[in-house]
Amino acid sequence: METPENEIFRDSISTINEEGKRAWVYPKKPSGKYYDKRKLVSYGLLAFLLASPFIKIGGNQFLMFNVLERRFNIFGFPFWPQDFHLFVISMIIGVVFITLFTVAFGRIFCGWICPQTIFMEMVFRRIEYWIEGDRNKQRKLARQKWDAEKIRKKGLKLFIFLIISFLIANVFLAYLIGSDRLLEYIAEGPLSHMGTLIPLVIFTAVFYFVFAWFREQVCVIACPYGRLQGVLLDTKSIVVAYDYKRGEGENGRKKFRKDEDRDALGHGDCIDCLQCVHVCPTGIDIRNGTQLECVNCTACIDECDHIMESINLPKGLIRYASEENIKNNVKFKLTARMKGYIAVLTILIGILTGMLFLRNEVEANVLRLPGQLYEHKEDNIISNVFTYKLVNKTTRDIQDVTLKLMSHKGTLKLVATSNSFIVPKQGIAEGSLFIEINNSALTGDRNKIKIGVYAGGKLIETCTANFLGPRSYK
Ligand code: SF4
Ligand code: SF4
Repeated sequence: METPENEIFRDSISTINEEGKRAWVYPKKPSGKYYDKRKLVSYGLLAFLLASPFIKIGGNQFLMFNVLERRFNIFGFPFWPQDFHLFVISMIIGVVFITLFTVAFGRIFCGWICPQTIFMEMVFRRIEYWIEGDRNKQRKLARQKWDAEKIRKKGLKLFIFLIISFLIANVFLAYLIGSDRLLEYIAEGPLSHMGTLIPLVIFTAVFYFVFAWFREQVCVIACPYGRLQGVLLDTKSIVVAYDYKRGEGENGRKKFRKDEDRDALGHGDCIDCLQCVHVCPTGIDIRNGTQLECVNCTACIDECDHIMESINLPKGLIRYASEENIKNNVKFKLTARMKGYIAVLTILIGILTGMLFLRNEVEANVLRLPGQLYEHKEDNIISNVFTYKLVNKTTRDIQDVTLKLMSHKGTLKLVATSNSFIVPKQGIAEGSLFIEINNSALTGDRNKIKIGVYAGGKLIETCTANFLGPRSYK
């Protein structure tokens, strides 16, 4: 079936030309109310993103995602592998939150918060404008032969891009391995830490590739979140939208002519100046309707508002609006789907809060030594050997730690250590222990026992284990 003419734009993507080659996008430098607000938000987020790994709360890095050692800090809360369920719930909350926002407000996350957009539009693109000039100058430079001016401008730009990519890679590494370790490696000399230097070079190369060459294609073809728009958005979602009823009128858009009565001729307010297309960083024409490529950056809103102002027409031909709002003039209201997401989000946040409050600062595990049964000793004593592991999630050493058998009369003896020990801050204490219980106190071949962990005589954690005895004593 042949594609209708007004749908042809859906057959191709804006960054690839008819020959299948890269169509480089040279967006016009945006300006206006939304761009100014986005700059403020972006600089705040950039400061947050760059500073977070270097901020400490109670001795903990504010944000850390040490995937290799499976240690995560979120807002200064340390999460250990044992807390993985909490980490997973936090991630699910993040996904539901973004989904809810997308259903209600479209790709607002992409335009205002996504690090890719912030770095691309507010850092790399602005450097490009500074060195190469605005859209027309950039296009001219691209067509120009490789003379001294072009080599100087392109060389300087790419060199600065490389330096910034290297800095971003360092910050990224600080999130992964921790800022203390990163600073330590820098002080000791990167060459003595080749295992970290190589990933750093790879990260730098990836960031450089993304921001110097791949650019808007991350949003247009690579980002999975972008691909989800088709299922998340509906006609009630608020997106950056062209008011086609007002823009097209009865007889369509038309170039502006002074002293012409557009109303009488039945033409809409769009004067087909293409400024909204020229300013678009993903190279699309928003007048074709909502498209997956649109990152809701608002640049076309600002640009069209300038045009409307210059021809004395009301602003807002392109604005934040839903399809229903434009078609039927319906105001925004919560849909059943949004209410459902809000309910799920509230429940998940409730569960996470409860779990955070119930979370222990010390995690204890006592397990029977694999392959060992029990030993029958003198005086009808049954002995089992266990391994123990105590995880201290706090930032202070826990002193004078002892383990005691709570559920049965018997003895608990640590192997190769005195009866009390220290669990180091953010560290682990582990070893083996014997538990001896009189056979008469056992109720079968498998007995659940409870062990208490005490610090300075105060109970701080309990755990259970299986104690084996002879079958005949069931
Ligand atoms: S900027 Fe506004 S007036 Fe110009 S083409 Fe775009 S929608 Fe039409
Ligand atoms: S269509 Fe408008 S809001 Fe969407 S990406 Fe282009 S300029 Fe930004």
